[in-house]
Amino acid sequence: MTADPTSADAPAVLDPLEQTLRSVFGIHEFRPHQRVIIEHVIAGGDAFVLMPTGGGKSLCFQLPALHRAGTAIVVSPLISLMKDQVDALQANGVAAACLNSSLSSSDASEVLRELRAGRLRMLYVAPERLVMAGFLATLRTVHVSLFAIDEAHCVSQWGHDFRPEYVQLGELRGLFPGIPLVALTATADDQTREDVRRRLHIETAPVFSAGFDRPNIRYTVAEKRSAPQQLERFIAQHPTDSGIVYCLSRKRVEQVAERLRKAGVRAAAYHAGMPSAERSRVQDAFARDEVHVVVATVAFGMGIDKPDVRFVVHYDMPKNIEGYYQETGRAGRDGLPAEALLLFGMQDAVVARGLIEMGGNPDQVRVELHKLSAMTDFAEATTCRRRVLLGYLGEQLERDCGNCDVCLDPPELYDATVDAQKVLSTVYRTGERFGVGHVIDVLVGATTEKMASRGHDALSVFGVGADRSRDEWTSVVRQLVHRGYLHQDIAEYSALKLRPSASGVLRGEVEVSLARPRARVRAEKRPARSVALTGSAVDADLFEQLRELRRGIATEQGVPAYVVFTDRALADMAARRPRTLVEFLQVHGVGEAKLERYGDVFLEAIAAG
Ligand code: ADP
Ligand code: ZN
Repeated sequence: MTADPTSADAPAVLDPLEQTLRSVFGIHEFRPHQRVIIEHVIAGGDAFVLMPTGGGKSLCFQLPALHRAGTAIVVSPLISLMKDQVDALQANGVAAACLNSSLSSSDASEVLRELRAGRLRMLYVAPERLVMAGFLATLRTVHVSLFAIDEAHCVSQWGHDFRPEYVQLGELRGLFPGIPLVALTATADDQTREDVRRRLHIETAPVFSAGFDRPNIRYTVAEKRSAPQQLERFIAQHPTDSGIVYCLSRKRVEQVAERLRKAGVRAAAYHAGMPSAERSRVQDAFARDEVHVVVATVAFGMGIDKPDVRFVVHYDMPKNIEGYYQETGRAGRDGLPAEALLLFGMQDAVVARGLIEMGGNPDQVRVELHKLSAMTDFAEATTCRRRVLLGYLGEQLERDCGNCDVCLDPPELYDATVDAQKVLSTVYRTGERFGVGHVIDVLVGATTEKMASRGHDALSVFGVGADRSRDEWTSVVRQLVHRGYLHQDIAEYSALKLRPSASGVLRGEVEVSLARPRARVRAEKRPARSVALTGSAVDADLFEQLRELRRGIATEQGVPAYVVFTDRALADMAARRPRTLVEFLQVHGVGEAKLERYGDVFLEAIAAG
């Protein structure tokens, strides 16, 4: 099937790679870096590919797999992830299969038969399966086109996600000389990257780094005040969107999910303590858009490949930037606008610190504390969030991003010397023995039992801060801690203590400038959903109708909704309103297999819509 060469959309000549990209994946152009990597691998080279989540790593081995003779062996750590990728490939008409512990032995034998017969373009295998002696022996008798190791950071103990079963993959390079090996990861830090290359014996292979920026994600950090209400307000702005809410503990996951359900949100909980059948049920329902919001611990993640997650909320502060970046990266893989919201409370940082300090290995504790403080710096930043994030990941942005809370609504700095003096002298006069709550009680002049029993209502500082709210004082205290005037002593029930630098402020020798406190998650007026999705006018009703149609098909076929079509594809359909199969083929995400399978039903729906 060829498009009308005179139509405006048709390029003059397509090279073979572009042809495959279109006819199989329905994608009309490469992203920066993809082509170079793909050509390098097709030519037989090893590669180490660094790309953020959603950057489009899969094509870097899937396209070479279609352009080299033989079967590509893809190692992937999670069964669910494997299954989704294989479903998506099959939906695009590619002969792909997977081999893992979830298959019955007869299904596994069938896959092996296909492999031996050379009928598979791609075979996804679990690492423990790959390194079995029997399987390696089989591989030696078939034609392997390439090895791809996805989530390659799992091989490193330095990484945040070490998996022992990955270690033996180090033998592959030696066992199969001459067959290209591609390792792919979104891991950020240098130490882990180097370690991965060493362990996989691809030290000399070129590193392709695609840049970690995800410009379509809007980063927002809000002070955590009444988290449940903040969350509900935020989700109310995204009534039909898919989103993930990360919490630090299982108990919290369940509470938050329950609350959201009571508020009418189609939410489900997900954590490692749930039976695995229940977990897969939640994951499937999310993929099929039957559940809109998954409230989860970090256990939920590696297994989701859903490209149209529109928001990721961190209800609690994550322990490090690597994890945070990876989790927020699950939003907006399709490149359409998405949001990452972090609710940041000072208490969270204190708790995280306490947990880390309980760890046994002093080196590990030191590393983790360092990572935590980088995370806190990010949350406290008064400069462009993206610059802070990317700077941490070793990448410099030329200018402010224009798509984070700081850029969109810069914090106002004010001369906070007097406020700082009030806080510091309250800490001093109460003997450096009380936590934030009581110090603020004294400042605002609250009449509590503790106040009377300690005689703090008689202090000169009692009520000197009555002109400000508790929330405002919390923000001031937090900033003073962050700037090193105060410190919270975990060993002593988080009591606030003065640091040496506080004396200059108390004596009036040092001026303090702080960000004016604010809390609200910006409830900006959002443009109509469809317009927000594509930047061009889309018929929102038609878009929703197409989503309904997709939901029905996905449920009927038992596959995730995006395997049928992504949001981006549906938005493109609603904008272009194709009338013929040829026009339909111009839509993003429509290759020949999907044209044949879904063209008629969708064209009909568009004509009727
Ligand atoms: P990663 O594995 O790096 O997290 P994926 O390979 O899953 O990312 O790709 C993320 C999304 O981006 C998928 O929906 C994929 O179809 C889409 N994608 C990849 N490359 C392109 C491209 N060149 N143009 C448009 N979309 C793309
Ligand atoms: Zn910014």
